Amino acid sequence: MSRPVQARRLEGIDKNIWVEFVKLAATYSTVNLGQGFPDFPPPDFLKEAFSRAVSGEKHTLHQYTRAFGHPPLVKILAQLFGKLLGRELDPMTNVMVTVGAYQALFCCFQAFIEEGDEVIIIEPFFDCYEPMVKMAGGTPVYIPLRPVTPKEGKLMSSADWQLDPAELASKFSEQTKAIVLNSPNNPLGKVFSRGELELIADLCVKHDALCISDEVYEWLVYDGKEHIRIASLPGMWDRTVIVGSAGKTFSITGWKVGWTVGPNRLLQHLRTVHQNSVYHCATAAQDAVAQGFQRELERYGKPDSYFVQLPRELQQKRDQLIQSLVAVGMKPIIPEGTYFLVADISEFKSEVPDVPDSDEPYDSRFAKWMVKNKGLAAIPLSAFYCGAHKDNYNSFIRFCFAKVRHTAGLHPSGLAVSTLHGTQGKNWGFFCTNKCSEGGEPAGGHKLNSWC
Ligand code: PMP
Repeated sequence: MSRPVQARRLEGIDKNIWVEFVKLAATYSTVNLGQGFPDFPPPDFLKEAFSRAVSGEKHTLHQYTRAFGHPPLVKILAQLFGKLLGRELDPMTNVMVTVGAYQALFCCFQAFIEEGDEVIIIEPFFDCYEPMVKMAGGTPVYIPLRPVTPKEGKLMSSADWQLDPAELASKFSEQTKAIVLNSPNNPLGKVFSRGELELIADLCVKHDALCISDEVYEWLVYDGKEHIRIASLPGMWDRTVIVGSAGKTFSITGWKVGWTVGPNRLLQHLRTVHQNSVYHCATAAQDAVAQGFQRELERYGKPDSYFVQLPRELQQKRDQLIQSLVAVGMKPIIPEGTYFLVADISEFKSEVPDVPDSDEPYDSRFAKWMVKNKGLAAIPLSAFYCGAHKDNYNSFIRFCFAKVRHTAGLHPSGLAVSTLHGTQGKNWGFFCTNKCSEGGEPAGGHKLNSWC
């Protein structure tokens, strides 16, 4: 392959927002609601399963297992997804285990995208899609979700961010190889409706395009909303790869266990990429995740199921954060799913005045100002847009609400997210909910600083 092609494939993909913002949060934040991972422990049944896997009698769990997925895990995933999709799945050919959903995505782009292929990406999007498509030699084609203004006095919902059907249709062409769908969507929390999925499905069928369906937040949906799998729509099973993550499902992002589910005609190509790169994922972690799914399948839909309990708890955290953000003058967009919430910060433009001719989007400068001056870390929404569109929606920031405590360790008993208090303007900040001896107790606590 000639050098210019290689150079183009790698162009700009070394810049990564996470490196910068994770460092800023570590340096300045008191409350880190930036990066997307829970700060609470995973369920006991899963920790116990991992302990059994590493310290039990079965020493084979310390060794290699089947390259495309530990048999107990692919079997249980085939059973569960068979039930969810209403079709019989073969664990050996319709399921493949990966090193997190991240590697599943990487396998998809490497397996399906050829030089010159176009891949449609819906903005805002999980940022790795773009470099992964480019590394495979493909060209990303972007389509934005466009916000519809809610009625006066009402908060916006992630459902108010919609695709324009004509605009979406115009993005499909002879070169379109695939569309990436992420529902529930990171960062907005949008859960695509059946009508929206049908629109995408019809265009995929019409243009013979694949659908890479990133469903890592499939269990995190709120207010009774239903997560619909696009693979279950007519004509879609045969052209869809479902991407999933035990990290999001069981609050174990560090274990890096993910999977793909789809027809063998597609998965056979993923197996080739997987075999010749990663080859294999940690056996003990796969074994424990298999046991977690076994438990969940037995309790499916019951109140003591983790898939029922986790969204219930997260919905409360979401609502607390909404209240807190409204109190300080931000306008949260109510997410229907995921553990992310995007808030409009345009009211703050007087506190962090715009710098004319700055290359950096306003939301990025605001997020940096906020972590340095208020100790609160979040991620600018512009990070979830392609280079050319970063300034289109630049007055929003993303919070992760899967948090119980702040992580700075100022406070052994923890600082709840709900302690973000204040009135609109300069005085907002964090208030300690503990009954510390100093500082009085405005709004249920005193202003947090290094002595409490
Ligand atoms: N897809 C989306 C939409 C995500 O938000 C993430 C993680 N933030 C991933 C995939 C990667 O998941 P994993 O940790 O299982 O690799």
